[in-house]
Amino acid sequence: MSSKRSPPSSDSSCDSDYEDKRRRIDIDSKLFSGLSIHIIQAKIEATELDLLFSLAESNGAELVTNNEQAEVIVTAISMRRRLERHIKWEIAKEKAVVTPAWITQSVANKRRLACGDYAAVCSLEECTKENCPDHSPKWQSARESSSPVPTTPRNLSYLARFAVQRASPLICPNQGLLEQLAVIHRISNTPRYQTLKEFTRIHGIGPHTARKLYATGCRTVDDLDRYYGAELGRTEEDEPVPEDEISGIRVALELRDKLCVPMPRGEVEEIDRVIAQELEEVEPGCLRTIVGGYRRGKEMSNDVDIVYTHPKKGRERNLSRRLVDRLRSLGLATHVLHITSFRSANPNHAPAGAARPDRPHWDTLDKALIIFRLPATENSPKGLHRRVDLIFAPFETYWTAVVGWTGSTLFERDLRLWAKQKMGMKFDSSGITRRRDTKQFFPRTEAAVFELLGLEYIDPTLRNADI
Ligand code: ATP
Ligand code: MG
Ligand code: MN
Repeated sequence: MSSKRSPPSSDSSCDSDYEDKRRRIDIDSKLFSGLSIHIIQAKIEATELDLLFSLAESNGAELVTNNEQAEVIVTAISMRRRLERHIKWEIAKEKAVVTPAWITQSVANKRRLACGDYAAVCSLEECTKENCPDHSPKWQSARESSSPVPTTPRNLSYLARFAVQRASPLICPNQGLLEQLAVIHRISNTPRYQTLKEFTRIHGIGPHTARKLYATGCRTVDDLDRYYGAELGRTEEDEPVPEDEISGIRVALELRDKLCVPMPRGEVEEIDRVIAQELEEVEPGCLRTIVGGYRRGKEMSNDVDIVYTHPKKGRERNLSRRLVDRLRSLGLATHVLHITSFRSANPNHAPAGAARPDRPHWDTLDKALIIFRLPATENSPKGLHRRVDLIFAPFETYWTAVVGWTGSTLFERDLRLWAKQKMGMKFDSSGITRRRDTKQFFPRTEAAVFELLGLEYIDPTLRNADI
């Protein structure tokens, strides 16, 4: 049984921030005020539990430990027999027994939603409807009420399970909730987690490498400087770090203060224009698309992502290398963080990152991840160091690659999941294959990619499905 909880504790640096936010939330809404809620902890993960407690409390609910005193019981249990381990059936029938989504969705919608729509156990649905503690008009049914957010032209919902079925504009309709989540998330994180997160902000360091570095004793980015600079803390038995990875991380560390300045759309376009000019010199007739956050309409980007191709087979031979060599010789590329080796251009040999658990979806496309610097012109000084990802795709999988590199990351994850679970297909940026017979498909437009996967087309600007 749960005990009444105080707000999650935090380190001192976050306290005032949290209190500020909390006060604002209190003033903003008393969504659950006067309501006693009992949350059954079974089957709910610790972080989600913290979140539910915080959302309920900060919106005025009284959290009670005794389920008999509660008007609303929140539980992730859906089977009667399991629920009966926590609450007597006769008592449950006198309550509204709802899923955790009732809390999160009510907060998201800024009004208490009808309990009946969130009944946790099928056979308690009627009771839950009847026992919903208030029938005033503010208890609108989520299903009956008109949507509080603007609808999109198509049949896309904001709440569908897969991000690929949702319209996700840059400014999310649940922005308020997300802000609350961000605060709660921050304060409920451990120092270890904070450190790992800081490490993964350095290009080339994924969650796996971050954990490894933490285990070695690194606690700050300065420690990483020392680690990658002088190889401190390494022993003979340690797995050798691939040279390519070390130098990439080292450069990213060196330039970290410069690389964290985001760039406006105009600069992305200028970088693309300069690269396109050199590409034309190296191999005339290439096609390209700026992908990533820029294509999703983001005002500011952290890097430039360009997918390019050539309609004629054979022209791509060593193209990545030839382009990067030219950019280097002109002083446009100052560093190369990673470039696919000739060997790994073969799909049977994935690039260096492929085997790393933190890069499970690294595709087999030929790519060069570089640091780029715009030259000085009459009107502007030399540009800042910028990260640029250059991805070559064979002509027949060009649109698959464009979809795969447009993101967002969550959208891509759900695209793979959707393709696998609903369509029996495998999607990644380097190709779409049918799982049962490994037949490959080559959609010739972006819309055809969506059609092939049985999805309604979603404009790039509505693929911003990340928090
Ligand atoms: P920003 O660059 O402004 O931070 P972004 O959405 O462009 O935002 P990126 O890290 O540049 O973020 O990634 C763009 C997209 O490219 C991602 O959403 C992901 O789908 C894809 N992507 C990135 N790295 C890889 C990779 N190694 N393999 C396959 N796809 C990748
Ligand atoms: Mg990007
Ligand atoms: Mn990128």
